[in-house]
Amino acid sequence: MGKGEDMDCYECKKQIKEFLNDSMNSKKCIEFVNHVRGCSECMEELSIEYLVNEGLKRLDTATSFDLDHELNEKINKSYSKAKFQKNFTVIAAIVIFILAFLFGLFLSTLFAY
Ligand SMILES: [Zn+2]
Repeated sequence: MGKGEDMDCYECKKQIKEFLNDSMNSKKCIEFVNHVRGCSECMEELSIEYLVNEGLKRLDTATSFDLDHELNEKINKSYSKAKFQKNFTVIAAIVIFILAFLFGLFLSTLFAY
């Protein structure tokens, strides 16, 4: 039950594994987190998937763990990382543009005579 986000539930549920493997690009990741935060159905699906994944990995360790809390941490971390990467890409593009511009200026002064 999406609420008009970019990603719909079908798309979101298909991406859960990718999200848990951290193999999602930043644009998708932001859409995914935005959807999951506003959609209890997909959030539940993500929680279950996470529980199964992490629970199996830790069957032999006796330490107690708070998977709900960890999943929240993961969502928040992935989200801020994706936001940072997205901003970084924009900044990098601007820097490259300026450098290209300066280089063009440099070339044009070089051949100005
Ligand atoms: Zn959904």
